[in-house]
Amino acid sequence: MKKMLFTLVALLGIAWVAAAATPEWRIAGDEKSLYDLLDLDRPGLKAVKKAVAKGDIAAADQELLKYFRSRKNVKIYGLDIEELDLTQEEQMMADQSLEHKFYAHKGYQPSYFYGDDIDWRYWPVKDNELRWQLHRHYWFIPLAKAYYLSREEKYIDAWIEHYTDWIRKNPIDGVERAQAAGASAEEIAAEKENFRFAWRPMEAGRRLQDQLTEFELTIGSQRFTSDFLNLFLRMFHQHADYVLHRYSEKGNHLLFEAQRMLFAGIYFPEFRDAKAWRESGIEILNREIGVQVYPDGMQFELDFGYHIAAIDIFLKALGMAQINGLAKEFPASYVATVEKMTVVTYNLLFPDNTNPMFGDTKQHNRSTLKRQFATWSKVFPANRQLPWVASDKKEGEMPSYTSRAFEDSGFYVLRNGWDKNATVAIVKAGPPAFWHNQPDNGTFEYWHRGRNFFPDSGSYVYGGDAEVLAQREWFRQTRVHNTLTLDDRNLEQTDSKLLLWKASGKQTVCVTENPSYEGLTHRRSMFLTAEGVLVIADQAFGTAAGKVGVHFNLCPGEVRYDENGLRTLFEKGTNIRIRTVCDAPMKIAEEEGWVSNTYRKKQERPAYAAEAQKAAGESRLFITVIAPVSKEADRIEIAPAQQATDRSLHFTVEVNGKKYDLGYDLK
Ligand code: CA
Repeated sequence: MKKMLFTLVALLGIAWVAAAATPEWRIAGDEKSLYDLLDLDRPGLKAVKKAVAKGDIAAADQELLKYFRSRKNVKIYGLDIEELDLTQEEQMMADQSLEHKFYAHKGYQPSYFYGDDIDWRYWPVKDNELRWQLHRHYWFIPLAKAYYLSREEKYIDAWIEHYTDWIRKNPIDGVERAQAAGASAEEIAAEKENFRFAWRPMEAGRRLQDQLTEFELTIGSQRFTSDFLNLFLRMFHQHADYVLHRYSEKGNHLLFEAQRMLFAGIYFPEFRDAKAWRESGIEILNREIGVQVYPDGMQFELDFGYHIAAIDIFLKALGMAQINGLAKEFPASYVATVEKMTVVTYNLLFPDNTNPMFGDTKQHNRSTLKRQFATWSKVFPANRQLPWVASDKKEGEMPSYTSRAFEDSGFYVLRNGWDKNATVAIVKAGPPAFWHNQPDNGTFEYWHRGRNFFPDSGSYVYGGDAEVLAQREWFRQTRVHNTLTLDDRNLEQTDSKLLLWKASGKQTVCVTENPSYEGLTHRRSMFLTAEGVLVIADQAFGTAAGKVGVHFNLCPGEVRYDENGLRTLFEKGTNIRIRTVCDAPMKIAEEEGWVSNTYRKKQERPAYAAEAQKAAGESRLFITVIAPVSKEADRIEIAPAQQATDRSLHFTVEVNGKKYDLGYDLK
């Protein structure tokens, strides 16, 4: 190790060599500079201070290592060293990394080989996430854990090798150095590109956080030398200082960064700047919980996945503060808001603990989700629903209600029960949101007795080159959601308002309206009956003319179309029929359909639209019945609407001999 560092330090003076494939860089700063960053007057650092005063940096490093090896005054929330375990996946990540096959992204498995001489700029598929997430070093903690549990030095050696190689090849001032060395415009552009990926604050924050666990698990090893400690701490400070000055502007990235800064500040109080790091994290989280969480408890990106991530961020910060004696930094309102967020979460779950995939949401791992609920229930012991979800409904208490409206964020849960025989329709019709949101207002998922008949298309990929972006755009389209379009175009506006909400044991009614296009307003009324029949009335008003389509994207499986819709043909479990009528000539048009439950995985599925023309100023009405069917009875009748006005609508439907009078009167 010493020899390796010596080599690295010896590179200090080597200038930019334009022709070299991998330019060699010095490690930023020098060993002495570490001692300007530390508060040597803290208890336990006397011997270090003495050595520094003598100018003996090597001795100071030795004393500092002794200090950190015996230090007991801070804890990392979530890390239980006595109960440390290494999952199969982590073992695999650690083992593969020994051969430089780095786990850069879950969606790109098996992992790519990054070269004997590691090429941190290798980019086999031009998906930005693949390049960004490489710099999160997902396999570093697995290496540290594998070492800690097995004591096999190959793991810690690999961690130190990857760590120092990364520092050498991704210096924070790579662009400036290339410019100073007179590199070509192309080389400078490549440095800039690399900086964008390696030093995005999100990734820097992730490394900052993970380095704490890596440190905790490796500091006791003889391989963790005093000069490596010096390097490690300087790099740690560089990361924290960088994030402090480059916080993301908003959204979940800002939350992640703030939580990680709080961890950094609490874990290394020896740094003079630690207090500022910790305070900035606490200040941002206390501020952003008011900004990013709607009064109804939903995170403002309107994405189930990031909503859960936000809960975990808020609770991790709180937990870290609590176990280190700083709980009072978070007011009671902070804790109450997080509990509200957990309430939204179980309301948005289907009875089998699967989740809707609106926006960029993916299908969550159900056992992870249960563990999250178990963690939350420890923070909020008075909430009896959290253990109920965590225990698969064996402990705790079922909610006392069924349907629930989250009006601020625009999520409406139409539910007739909580068990496996229930029917649950979740509608998304809310305010505008950000990147992870999609132009999908009015869309819904419908779960009936164990099957989600209308899973959201999902997102498939995030961003990248034109090819990757085109894949993302396909999954974002309005027409691949279960809502209404004009000429199959994406919605121009997504800003739905709730006009009516009524939930009784017999029926739930939800009427929302979105100013979808210039000249076209979409009003969607949904009715869920006690039997699990979902009826949807779609009205299109306004001056626009064109083809109006109501889209239905089903779960994968065989279907049979007819002139009004279709029926599913599952051999096991329940089936549904969909039937639509319109107040103008209507046709059923089959469409391309895909669903993506997880990154870069997709499955074909049936999809179609019920279409009719609309003249300027005319209004159009579609009534759709989605009904569970049995072999014996699957008759659906829809009586035409009586004279509708813009404030009222009434009609009747008959399903398997049962008649429903449906409609609304707005005040
Ligand atoms: Ca979607």
